[in-house]
Amino acid sequence: MNENELQTLVEQISLTYFKRPFNHQVKINNRMRTTGGRYFLKDHHIEINGHFLAENYRQDLIGIIKHELTHYHLHLLGKGYQHRNTDFKNLLKQVGGSRYTPDIGLRRKAKINYLYRCQNCGLIYPRVRKINTRRYYCGKCRGELRLIEKSN
Ligand SMILES: [Zn+2]
Ligand SMILES: [Zn+2]
Repeated sequence: MNENELQTLVEQISLTYFKRPFNHQVKINNRMRTTGGRYFLKDHHIEINGHFLAENYRQDLIGIIKHELTHYHLHLLGKGYQHRNTDFKNLLKQVGGSRYTPDIGLRRKAKINYLYRCQNCGLIYPRVRKINTRRYYCGKCRGELRLIEKSN
């Protein structure tokens, strides 16, 4: 799933469960480790932990999106948008959002050192070790992978 597809998914979830449009931007954040997502009060954008974009975490991803949208809509409506607020607790329960970041082993996992992006479909591949991009292609579309970030 790339950023455009994620944007569409968030907009759909917003209309379906909150009956209100999401009119701001969603960004993928691959550096998040302990949180699934984050809502930014200043410009109302949402960031989603890129690790949850993999196909097998779809249910977790939806729970995370609902959680961030709960912050988003309550904040824009001038209601209690923080975790401790009753408005937040009630709305989160109503839409079935996740209360905690699902544990997919991110805390225990080795640090991600290399980030590759498919040049064709935009899928992100976080990797601990360097990979040979002449030998490995995107698992979804067979596109070429390119190193976009190296940390150390
Ligand atoms: Zn939260
Ligand atoms: Zn691809």
